[in-house]
Amino acid sequence: MLKASLRSHLTLWFTGLSLLTLLSVGFYVGHIATEQMKQASGSALLNTARSAASLLGEQLRERQLEVYLLSRAPHLERGDLDNPAILKSLQLRTQARAEYAWMGVTDAQGNVHQAVNGLLVGQSVQQRPWFQAGLRGEYTGNPHEAVLLAKMLPGSPSGEPLRFIDFAAPIRNAADQVIGVLGAHAHWNWVTRIVESAAFSHKNSAPDIEALIIDHDGKVLYPEALMGQRLSTSDSRAPGWSVGDGYLTSMVKVPTPSSSALSWSIAVRQPLETALQPAHMLLYKLLLLGVVAAVLFGVVAYYLALYLSRPIEQLARSAKQVQDNQPGAHFPLQHPVREIAQLGQSIDAMTQSLLGKERELQEANASLEAIVAQRTADLRQANAELLSLATHDALTGAYNRRRFDEKLTEYTLLSRRTGRPFALLLIDADHFKRINDTHGHAVGDDVLRQLAQLIGASLRTTDFVARYGGEEFAVLLPEIAQPDTPEVVAEKIRAAIADTHFPVVEHVTVSIGVGLADPADNSPTALIKRADQQLYQAKAAGRNRVAHHAIITSPL
Ligand code: GH3
Ligand code: MG
Ligand code: MG
Repeated sequence: MLKASLRSHLTLWFTGLSLLTLLSVGFYVGHIATEQMKQASGSALLNTARSAASLLGEQLRERQLEVYLLSRAPHLERGDLDNPAILKSLQLRTQARAEYAWMGVTDAQGNVHQAVNGLLVGQSVQQRPWFQAGLRGEYTGNPHEAVLLAKMLPGSPSGEPLRFIDFAAPIRNAADQVIGVLGAHAHWNWVTRIVESAAFSHKNSAPDIEALIIDHDGKVLYPEALMGQRLSTSDSRAPGWSVGDGYLTSMVKVPTPSSSALSWSIAVRQPLETALQPAHMLLYKLLLLGVVAAVLFGVVAYYLALYLSRPIEQLARSAKQVQDNQPGAHFPLQHPVREIAQLGQSIDAMTQSLLGKERELQEANASLEAIVAQRTADLRQANAELLSLATHDALTGAYNRRRFDEKLTEYTLLSRRTGRPFALLLIDADHFKRINDTHGHAVGDDVLRQLAQLIGASLRTTDFVARYGGEEFAVLLPEIAQPDTPEVVAEKIRAAIADTHFPVVEHVTVSIGVGLADPADNSPTALIKRADQQLYQAKAAGRNRVAHHAIITSPL
């Protein structure tokens, strides 16, 4: 799982939630506004349709009444269908009202007796529906194309076929017998103009509206372009208006006289797109506002998150520093959010105590190390001293007898391997008992120390000197080469001692026996024995001399 920072979490959540809230509010308000807009537009359309329908109904009733009144003229009632006064009154009517295309009087057989402008006079209209209906009673008919009059009247400027609606009323004599029909043709465009003017002059009329005249069976009579179509008004949600085919439509029945066969409706409709445009605009504005507000919320949330997360990020960084043993960890101690401040203080206190403990531990470690180092040094020194004690003679500082034995064995083995000889000098102080006896044991000790020193000074660094016993010393000479042959070295030692002035005792002499190692020797003791014999010889010859190979050299 990807681990995002606290800041990103807070920002995303804040922005997402505010966007969600604002968008849902926007959609909800937009939805309500759309419904309200439909209601408002629907009722506006209904008003328009109502006023158009009532205006048209009124006009139709008036024309019907006019025709009825004319049919009841006294001349006609008397059966005088050809009376010129009738024509006069017909002509007055048609002149007064431009909607009449034709007006005339027929007898009961359908022969036209009199007509305005003499049109159709003498012709039979027996087959015309208006005549047949007119015999039975007052009649207002559906629009139809001109049949007989088409060639006699000037055509419409647009070239459309002439269309009329017919009015008719029976002419009755005093005995109430039908003796003829009074008919009138009105221009269909008179009707459509009434509807149009009513629809568009309405002060509340909305943009893009369309007015339609609908037949009794739901087919469009007007406008021409939609003629014969049926209006789809399936989704009717409110009385007076409905939604369908992408239109908001309001339909109202035209109030016509009960005697009339006419059953028209006026439909006023408006594209839904237009009707709902204000609601859509509102929705877009709300959504835009929602997005802008969400961005603003996002920015605010980011800074808020920054404000909250910065000390926590600092805490996390500092804790990591403490974990990595890096210096400079600093914990924020002050923050307006109580828990954050508390967290900072607690971690700071914990860190301080941790660091304190660590420091104590380090100090303890350091002192422990110092102690260990001191002890190690002491031990090393003690070991060195022990080693020295184990190999050296405490009184004179020369090697001791034990070390001498080791060295002798070592030289013997080496000599046996290489075939090279080495020499042993046994040095014994002369009449040492007397020194002790005369000057005391301490002075004797001093003499022994001085003797060891004198012997050492006369030797090469490769030579080896040890205290062999009481007042005897042994010297091992590993290399025998001219001019420092063993007897020369022995003589050098003897002379150095004999020539030295000792405090208290003044003069001390030594006797030296020289023995040469023989590779054929079985054991080191053979060599010692030889040297010892030589020493005996030297003593016997009078002391203060060197003896070797049975030749006893006398002092020079
Ligand atoms: P010689 O010339 O025959 O060697 O006579 P000498 O007296 O040296 O021989 P002897 O062996 O009789 O005496 C050795 C003396 O050395 C006896 C002893 O008191 C003395 N002596 C041995 N060891 C020590 C020592 O460590 N300190 C002192 N002061 N005297 C010692
Ligand atoms: Mg002795
Ligand atoms: Mg002696």
